[in-house]
Amino acid sequence: MSAIPFDLAVVGAGPAGLSAAVVAAEAGLRVVLIDAGVQTGGQYWRHPDERHLDAFAAPEHTGHHHWDHYRALRDRLRRRISDGRVDHRAGRQVWRIDPAGDGTVFALRTTAVAGLDDAAPADRAIHARRVVLAPGAYDRQLPLPGWTLPGVMAAGGVQAMLKANQVTAGRRAVVAGTGPFLLSVAAGLARAGVEVVAVCEANALSRWAATPLRAVQEPAKLLEGVGYAATFLRHRIPLHTRTIVARVAGDERARGVTIAAVDGDGRVRPGTERDLDVDLVALGWGFTPQLELVVGAGARTRVDVDGSLVAVVDRDQRTSVAGLYAAGEATGVGGAVQSCAEGELAALAAAVDSGYGIPSARARRLRRRIARGRRFAVGMHRASPVPEHWASWLHDDTLVCRCEEVTVAAVRETVVDLAADDARDVRVTARPGMGMCQGRVCGFALSCLVADRTGRPTRAADLEPLVRRPVGTPIRVADLAALADLSGVADAEAPGPTDPVAPSGLTPSDLADLAPRKERP
Ligand SMILES: Cc1cc2nc3c(=O)[nH]c(=O)nc-3n(C[C@H](O)[C@H](O)[C@H](O)COP(=O)(O)OP(=O)(O)OC[C@H]3O[C@@H](n4cnc5c(N)ncnc54)[C@H](O)[C@@H]3O)c2cc1C
Repeated sequence: MSAIPFDLAVVGAGPAGLSAAVVAAEAGLRVVLIDAGVQTGGQYWRHPDERHLDAFAAPEHTGHHHWDHYRALRDRLRRRISDGRVDHRAGRQVWRIDPAGDGTVFALRTTAVAGLDDAAPADRAIHARRVVLAPGAYDRQLPLPGWTLPGVMAAGGVQAMLKANQVTAGRRAVVAGTGPFLLSVAAGLARAGVEVVAVCEANALSRWAATPLRAVQEPAKLLEGVGYAATFLRHRIPLHTRTIVARVAGDERARGVTIAAVDGDGRVRPGTERDLDVDLVALGWGFTPQLELVVGAGARTRVDVDGSLVAVVDRDQRTSVAGLYAAGEATGVGGAVQSCAEGELAALAAAVDSGYGIPSARARRLRRRIARGRRFAVGMHRASPVPEHWASWLHDDTLVCRCEEVTVAAVRETVVDLAADDARDVRVTARPGMGMCQGRVCGFALSCLVADRTGRPTRAADLEPLVRRPVGTPIRVADLAALADLSGVADAEAPGPTDPVAPSGLTPSDLADLAPRKERP
């Protein structure tokens, strides 16, 4: 445990966190940047392993946008690391954040992502006076018949393989779901030599026309769209709107899909089904912010336009917890450029709150930039909603939770027969979201299914329990065991524990939550 706390801890080295760390260090703060990845970039700038670039066929920037901006940020970070202003802890994930001492310091508990944790138990907790949370998002997944077959992947996962490994996940692909990200994935696959036999967009493109002013807020995105259109023409990729993948066929792995036209509410139009032979199905329904640390730290949340749970922040990215800031997708899905601006503003706010003088014009410019990006994001979410009647595509035996093998029928019966009227009730009763992924994959779909069944819209109070957990990321039993060893160290070195019952920061009820559960028959 570091006896002298950092001025600022930044969790996440994607566009938001990387920007925050660099700007805060340049403003004079002593920063620790913690990221689960072995190198910076996050999801958007995910790129080949920098130690082995010779092993890759194409340069590291292949398939990237705004790469010059990333390179500049990476260079600035390296300079701040070498002059000692930033300590970059790569390959470590934060699994819990607690106030420590008199409440003016946060304790961030970390664990190694892979392999043995060679940090001494006492060094696994990092102390900082302020924290910027920039943990990004997950792919938002919706179940459909056959979605658990090998060969069916989340669109973000397909993109990640392309960017990080320069590997395509199949040879003949269909890309389906909703939103502009589908275009990016399909264009990337086509340029990498995959035959993209169809892109199925569940909504009508005319929905963008309903918010033209929002769409023109971001001319750079419009230009990006023109680039994708050119790639579609060059590779003859058919774009079908108001069309979905209704089911995936295959035994051992995906070997085809049935696509179907839908009406404006997402109901399949009878007689429009058509089979396609593919070995890769990339499904993209947008992203779900990763809120475990935000909720765990006690910050307020709200439901965003796209139905995601997001952190509530003020105009300078401060959360409702003093000293805790949030930036990037955690405050609402809006893309990488928006995330960079939010990260920068959070860093400036942290610097001001730490007593550093910052030119106010810079903060004003960032606030204007963020407001514009937000207007675009709202337009994008309204143009690309999850169709209202998507649940009608499911069969009774379609799996909702693949970890615990809970079916659609089981979820519906739990709502109807056992009167479970929110996602948390269903989760503790029928066990969806109780397996290894802890609801990261099925949580959003589960909440939509329950809302569909109860007829009651989802509220923040329904979604929060799905992400509230005493341990924010999977950890090893050894990490838990180390907490017992740590208790003496924490007492001796921390400025003074706030919770005498559990110096680890875990309350008795948290510890009860961690106890092994009995399997239901
Ligand atoms: C799989 C995937 C692929 C995507 N690909 C694209 C794309 O190609 N184009 C596009 O426009 N958008 C893409 N997105 C959306 C994209 O995430 C954002 O627009 C952008 O990257 C958001 O930046 P961010 O800094 O908020 O988060 P991210 O870029 O997601 O960065 C978050 C970082 O936080 C780290 N982290 C999270 N939790 C912890 C923890 N507990 N401890 C330590 N570190 C942690 C992660 O390792 C990650 O590096 C993708 C999203 C996903 C989920």
